Amino acid sequence: MISEGKAKATVNGVFYNPRMKFCRDFDIAVFRAIHEKERMVRYLDALSASGIRGIRACLEAGYDVSFNDIDERAVETIKRNLELNGIEAEVYNKDANILMREKRFFHIDIDPFGSPAEFIDSACIYPKYLSVTATDTSALCGSSTASGLRKYGVFAVKTEYYPEVGLRALIGRIFNESAKYDKAVRVLVAFAKEHFYRVHIEFRRSPNAVKRTFSKYGYLFHCPKCLRRYHVRIGEGMDKCECGEKMIMIGPLWLGELHDQNFVEKLESDEKEVSRYINLIRGEIQTPFFYDLHHITKKLNTSPPKLDSVIEALRELGYSASRTRFSGTSFKTDADISEIGRVIMDLKSQPS
Ligand code: SAM
Repeated sequence: MISEGKAKATVNGVFYNPRMKFCRDFDIAVFRAIHEKERMVRYLDALSASGIRGIRACLEAGYDVSFNDIDERAVETIKRNLELNGIEAEVYNKDANILMREKRFFHIDIDPFGSPAEFIDSACIYPKYLSVTATDTSALCGSSTASGLRKYGVFAVKTEYYPEVGLRALIGRIFNESAKYDKAVRVLVAFAKEHFYRVHIEFRRSPNAVKRTFSKYGYLFHCPKCLRRYHVRIGEGMDKCECGEKMIMIGPLWLGELHDQNFVEKLESDEKEVSRYINLIRGEIQTPFFYDLHHITKKLNTSPPKLDSVIEALRELGYSASRTRFSGTSFKTDADISEIGRVIMDLKSQPS
């Protein structure tokens, strides 16, 4: 017997990962904000396992939840857990791809073991909201280039800011799949943590909005020598890096926002870690891609100054700069790498 949030559950050998509690706690903040706006949310926990995510969505966010799992043992477990929590709900025992095409849900949640790639197409057809987890981060972030091409049609190599590349590759794929159904995406909030990515999206059905959203879709050109990056929208060109090095093209990727500022302002959580993380996301500027301070100082042959002093110095020069959700040693800024290098070297030359 486990207890998580307001839910109690038995697991009986079906999938349950206590390390994903943070993800489910964060979900509750997101689901509450959606419920607050929409009032009635018909939600499908499409890959339920024990049903813990959907049960919490029902008990803690007021969602009207349906459950599904292809595994009969999981279905038995979900039914038992619903009884345990005093919930009456529909429970399906279907391939999620079939169910998502047969029935309409307002919010669909795809939380697979590994890759969500095979579910994204069906999950984009009907709902207004979509939540997706991916744990095949190596395929998305460039650690496994061949898998990324096979599963997501994305070419990536590993960079020092790989979690952001991976997250944007996943969102890019979702946008690409939903565009054919004339649905544009608004990223409510997305993040990369430990071994997983989580994305919460709101769709808008409008061919014009899809056309406009393509301005947020394109390629990253990464220079491994001088650390410069350029993002190039579909249709634009790119030659060599300013430093003369041949650049590596990564993509296609989502180059738009990783959260909606109004939406994340509404997020609330009683969990300290989630609350801190929400604040971090709120304060993060929307420029792709983050810089890792240690990686830059290694290139500069120096030791890292304090992260906050770099951010402060960049701001004093008129640039936007902030910490980032992706790593505690990294930051985001709209300053160019050469300017960042100058700022770091200036800080290093000041007496401490
Ligand atoms: N959402 C759960 C949670 O928060 O604990 C975990 C889900 S677990 C990672 C993935 C579940 O998806 C497994 O129980 C598996 O049986 C189920 N599954 C795998 N392929 C499926 C498919 N094609 N259709 C429906 N369920 C599927």
